[in-house]
Parts: sequence; C-alpha cells; structure tokens
Amino acid sequence: MESEVRTIVDAASSRILTPRAGECLVCYVFRQLGEFGCDGTHRFALTFRDRTAPRATALMERLGSMGACCCDCEIFNNAYAFSSRPWITGAAFGEAIGTGFEAQEPVDLRTEFGINEPPAKTFYLCCQFVRRGSTQPCANWTRMSRW
Ligand SMILES: [Zn+2]
Ligand SMILES: [Zn+2]
Repeated sequence: MESEVRTIVDAASSRILTPRAGECLVCYVFRQLGEFGCDGTHRFALTFRDRTAPRATALMERLGSMGACCCDCEIFNNAYAFSSRPWITGAAFGEAIGTGFEAQEPVDLRTEFGINEPPAKTFYLCCQFVRRGSTQPCANWTRMSRW
C-alpha cells in the first residue's frame, strides 16, 4: 500500500515538474509557480535548465541581470510581463497544455486578449513554444522595461 502511494506521488510530481515538449522557460516557471508557489529559490528555472538546456550555464546570470537574481517569482515581478498577444484560450484543450486561470465572473476574452472566443470563467495560457535547448521566452512574454 505504502509503496503504491509513493509511486503515485512520484508519478504526479514528475509529470508536473517535467517541462512539456517545446514549452519555454517563462511559461514553465509560471505554470509551476501557479501550482506550487515560490520557495525563495530558482528551483523551477534550474529544473527547466537541467531538463532541457543543461549547457545554458549563463542562464542564472542572465536572470539576475534582469532583476530576478534570487528566486523564480522575481521573473514575473522584474523581468517578464504578458505580451500584447499571449496565447489564451477558453477551450478545454488548454487544460492539457496551458496554465489555468479561474475568474469570479466570465472574462470577455475578445476585448481582454483579442481572441475570437466567447467569454469564459476558466481560461488557459498556452505556451507558443520555442526550439529545444532554448532558454528564451515564447511570444507570450515581453521584457519589462528596466525600473
Ligand atoms: Zn520568489
Ligand atoms: Zn511560453
């Protein structure tokens, strides 16, 4: 029984922690922070690098130079914000490939994000993908101007 639970937990955490094929660094970290929160380290950025781009040894330095020197959530406080055209969908497939948002009231996806879908309470941010080995963000993200 106990080892069965262990196996299930291990399977769940490896599913969650593994970057999806083509998923970019920033979407990956965003998704993990939504799931687990920040623990004051770069654990998700480091996991992404180790799993997909082990030769990107300058990544932490680069994040640091963008104001995200100490932990993953700083990436979203100091370095990257949503671009003007993030890939948002209210369609169910987003659950498998995106990061979910739950709103209290239906959000008008047309006026908010310029997409041709009916208003939805649940919608998803889906990665627009990068080539394997890249640590660049996909088109969902734009650099914040330096403070
Ligand atoms: Zn943090
Ligand atoms: Zn992305």
